[in-house]
Amino acid sequence: MVIRMRHTRAHTANRRSHHALKTPTLAVCANCGAKHRPHHMCLECGFYKGRMVVDMATKTQAREARLKAKRDMINGEAADTPEAASEAPEETPTDNEAEKK
Ligand SMILES: [Zn+2]
Repeated sequence: MVIRMRHTRAHTANRRSHHALKTPTLAVCANCGAKHRPHHMCLECGFYKGRMVVDMATKTQAREARLKAKRDMINGEAADTPEAASEAPEETPTDNEAEKK
């Protein structure tokens, strides 16, 4: 950056006058009272326009089960690595590929 290219403070301030963040407008859920994006499903209860669109209870359960399985896998791998350090790098890619499919 050369001095020739430097903007004045006023030029910089004028440009930055449009950088202020706006507070997001949120609607209140009619079912549970939580705030959610307008024209979007409530992320707390899965309702939209007084009707259940997504069963959030089942979704959160499935997510926790998935995270638990992942945690168990990581803990299992951590326990295996000190015993067989040479075999671990070969085994891990195949385990990941099997889970993706
Ligand atoms: Zn809700």
